[in-house]
Amino acid sequence: MNIVLFGAPGAGKGTQSTMLVEKLGFVQISTGDIFRRAIKNKTDLGLKAKEFMDQGKLVPDELTIQLVDEVLVGLKGQSFILDGFPRTMPQALALEDILKKRDLVINKAIFLEVPKDQLVARLSGRRVCKGCGAVYHIDSKPSKSEGVCDLCSSEVVQRSDDQAEVIITRLKTYEENTSPLREYFRGKGKYFELDGALNADQVFKNLKQILSS
Ligand code: AMP
Repeated sequence: MNIVLFGAPGAGKGTQSTMLVEKLGFVQISTGDIFRRAIKNKTDLGLKAKEFMDQGKLVPDELTIQLVDEVLVGLKGQSFILDGFPRTMPQALALEDILKKRDLVINKAIFLEVPKDQLVARLSGRRVCKGCGAVYHIDSKPSKSEGVCDLCSSEVVQRSDDQAEVIITRLKTYEENTSPLREYFRGKGKYFELDGALNADQVFKNLKQILSS
């Protein structure tokens, strides 16, 4: 079972993907995480991606598609989640070719629906661990000691693209580029919708139901 998990920034794609990895053995392919790792390691890809990410814009399709093409090698026989890809129509179309080439299929595209005011609250309060990537929230899930990760004791910080002005651009970018993919996947008969405003455990329960339907 291979799935696309999509939705606005802050909809909970990363949280649900992590649960799918830990509880059901999925492989998570998060383009955002790959870009962030590349930035941390100061690779060519990271340098190119950083200028777009810092502004809340999408990394150009060409670069992103090439990345996914490389990452999808060797995944045959495993269940994977595409978390945050595709995010544009050209990416969706390129994905069709990549899948064909690698003899892979996407079985379901699952959209996480969350009202905009909740997205803003989630993103602006989100904090992440610089070491292990654990995700916190200043109100709903603070780390035990402020600024310190409960799991690995590394520093807990705000993502540079979770700052107020950048959040506004990211949500606008999402509306313009990614929201239309709902219709695209609906047309393919693969579209499923989840209420992402519920708590993470409840969303996961509903997600499992979709996977087994
Ligand atoms: P995320 O962690 O999924 O919120 O992604 C963080 C940022 O990485 C986005 O705001 C984009 O700048 C970039 N990014 C992630 N996935 C994609 C994608 N499929 N296409 C273009 N840019 C992406």
